[in-house]
Amino acid sequence: MSLITIIWSMLSSACLTLAGINLLIWCKNPKARANLVFSLAAVSTAAFAFCELWMMWAETTTAFATALKWAALPGWLVSLSLVGFVHLYLRAGRPWLAWTVYGVRTLALLLNFMVGQNIIFMEITHLRRIPFLGETVSVAEGVRNPWMVVGQLGLVLLVVFIADAGVTAWRRGDRRKALTVGGSVVFFTIVATGQSLLVFWGIVQAPITASLFFFGVVAVMGYELSYDALRASLLDRQLQVSEAGLRESEERMNLAVDGAHFGIWIRDLVRNQIWATDSWRALFGFKKTEPLELESILQRIHSEDRDVVRMLLARAIENNGSYEAEYRLILPNGEMHWIASHGRVEFDVNGKPILVRGLSHDITERKAAGQETQNLRDEIAHVGRVSMMGQLASALAHEISQPLGAILRNAEAAELFLQNASPDLDEIRAILDDIKKDDQRAGSVIDRMRGLLKRHSLEKRPVEVGELVGDTVALVRADAVARQVKLELEIQDGLPLVSADRVHLQQVLINLIFNGMDAVNNGLEAPRVRVTAQLDGAQAVEIAVSDDGHGIPADELVHIFDPFFTTKPNGMGMGLPISRTIIEAHGGRIWAENNNGGGAVFRFTLPILDEVATK
Ligand code: ADP
Repeated sequence: MSLITIIWSMLSSACLTLAGINLLIWCKNPKARANLVFSLAAVSTAAFAFCELWMMWAETTTAFATALKWAALPGWLVSLSLVGFVHLYLRAGRPWLAWTVYGVRTLALLLNFMVGQNIIFMEITHLRRIPFLGETVSVAEGVRNPWMVVGQLGLVLLVVFIADAGVTAWRRGDRRKALTVGGSVVFFTIVATGQSLLVFWGIVQAPITASLFFFGVVAVMGYELSYDALRASLLDRQLQVSEAGLRESEERMNLAVDGAHFGIWIRDLVRNQIWATDSWRALFGFKKTEPLELESILQRIHSEDRDVVRMLLARAIENNGSYEAEYRLILPNGEMHWIASHGRVEFDVNGKPILVRGLSHDITERKAAGQETQNLRDEIAHVGRVSMMGQLASALAHEISQPLGAILRNAEAAELFLQNASPDLDEIRAILDDIKKDDQRAGSVIDRMRGLLKRHSLEKRPVEVGELVGDTVALVRADAVARQVKLELEIQDGLPLVSADRVHLQQVLINLIFNGMDAVNNGLEAPRVRVTAQLDGAQAVEIAVSDDGHGIPADELVHIFDPFFTTKPNGMGMGLPISRTIIEAHGGRIWAENNNGGGAVFRFTLPILDEVATK
């Protein structure tokens, strides 16, 4: 077999093989239109090579002319598929230029079949035999066809179109593609066209070997496509690896989710389907293969919680895209479980909800523990309330005994006065006045205590400390006189206002004064209780009740504010704890200490009214 036959048939079979492969790729993936166009280019190149062989071995001018005429058809197809390939592969090229190339090349093809023997020769007059690759081949000579320029114009336009598309791709950043496809196609097309022109114009004595150059183009195109296929397969492998990773992390997540006793459910809103993990099904009491429907799931929820869950789900889908709920579940076996769920809705690009993903877990134990804590808290609160009421009841008895005692003493005095033949009515009137005042005091004590029992808050008002202390001392003065205790009062001038509940504060003061009088009553010669009120820094007023009695033993000092701590035979041990409650409710502090010169001093502070403090 001759060298020419070997080269040309090898070239054709390579083209046909590449065409077959790419046709197959296109069949598998009709979107891969570049592969289809490439197949066309490769088949056309093979056909063109066949026509070239036909010309080289032609014995007669007619055979040569026929071969040349039919060679125009694959030539036309090569140009067309090149335009298509460049357009599809580089995603560039001006459409109007592409259509011009199609138009001119098609016109040339038509002229090829209509004018003269073909578009190159009007008539081939004779064949010349020339040596080529060590053999003798035919080349034609004759009258040239002037329409040849149309075909050549088409080729020039083809080169322009490809170069332009290459530049666009280059500018866009697809530099490698622009260089390999654009550059090589332009190069080979120019060379092929140039060689044909030189041959046809008789400048070079050689057979037409355009298919060799077309093959160059086909090889570059094939390389590009296989490069893409290689990249696709690499990506595919990467995808497989990452899919495997994904599967593994999915498995791990499932394990973690199962381990944490979480259940996952996914609701496809488009297909109206619900999928759930096995652990979710176990949680909700559904069998592994049982079909899931929203309504049947909702029916498992306690009737009292169902509507809330339904509403939360609907709201998540309609507006905010997520929900969180805690509800009771009644399983088919009647067991009740507490479930905590949270979920998120996924929306498509148009904002339409497509999927709901939910996570649920059993919180029955947590709820039970919470309930226990709540019960405990309630119990403590109850005990607290009971003890508070006990304190108040004792305090009431204690506080009320003072005005009642005073009333009794006054009534006795009045009785004595009335035994007189001419009783001093003014004196009796004054006594009755005192009785009335004591009665009012007892009444307001009861009212306040009732208020506390009803958990009423303190009725705080701006109070002048000096006035309040003075009034209170006046109230107990009669008792002091009866006990022969000297009651001293010292109030700093211009004390600021405090915010206080008058009656409560009076109670505290009375209690402290009586305690002081109790302490000094044990046979002291000149028993004395001293009440002072003065500024304590810039923010508070300090009121102190001091006595020169027996004082408080050091070990008792820490206990005297404890409820029921008393050292008195008839004491209740409630006065000081209640006083502390009242003072602390005013935002103040109360404490006791022993005087250096003997006796005890009880001090408490009251915060100054804000507006006044900031003046
Ligand atoms: P009660 O007056 O019923 O004893 P309190 O709570 O008022 O209850 O006082 C508790 C105890 O604090 C008193 O029993 C007494 O031992 C001690 N105490 C209170 N005030 C003084 C004081 N001025 N001097 C010494 N001890 C006091």
